[in-house]
This record gives sequence, structure tokens and C-alpha cells, in this order.
Amino acid sequence: MTRLTTDPRRCVACRACQLWCSFSHGALTHPSRARLDIQQPPDTDVHFHPDCDECGMCARVCPTGAIESAPEARGEDS
Ligand code: SF4
Ligand code: SF4
Repeated sequence: MTRLTTDPRRCVACRACQLWCSFSHGALTHPSRARLDIQQPPDTDVHFHPDCDECGMCARVCPTGAIESAPEARGEDS
């Protein structure tokens, strides 16, 4: 499981994240079937849907680092 972070200022609205999300989670490869929304410029933003399973695929294909993933903290004190 990953923890996803976003930096919408780096998003260029290429929709690669939406295409790969929809491809990996369903039969239809289309932004409308993705589990995240990309708001177009000038108010670019990234929103995850409640059914996002935090697989991290979108972060792996994002070319700009607008979505990044990090291993989930275990919540243990060291
Ligand atoms: S982390 Fe969420 S939005 Fe990203 S590819 Fe996986 S299900 Fe889709
Ligand atoms: S978050 Fe990354 S992959 Fe998704 S539209 Fe923005 S730049 Fe493209």
C-alpha cells in the first residue's frame, strides 16, 4: 500500500494518470473511467475518488511528479 501526495502546480493535464488508472482497473481505457479527476488549467488540480485503492499506478506514470507515492508509514515508534 502506498501513500499518495499531489503537487497540482506540476500537473500539465496530460491525463496519462487517468488513462493508466482506467486501463489497469477496467475494460475501458478512458479518463472518464479513472479513479481520479484532473481539473484543467488555469485552476489545475488533482482529486482522487473514494474508490481509489492507492495502487500507485498513476504516480508511476506521471511524467512531472505531480503525483508521487511513498510507502505507508507503519505507525510504529522506534
Ligand atoms: S492510485 Fe488510485 S487513482 Fe491512482 S491508479 Fe491507483 S486507483 Fe487509480
Ligand atoms: S497528474 Fe501527472 S499524469 Fe496526471 S495529468 Fe497531471 S501531469 Fe499528467
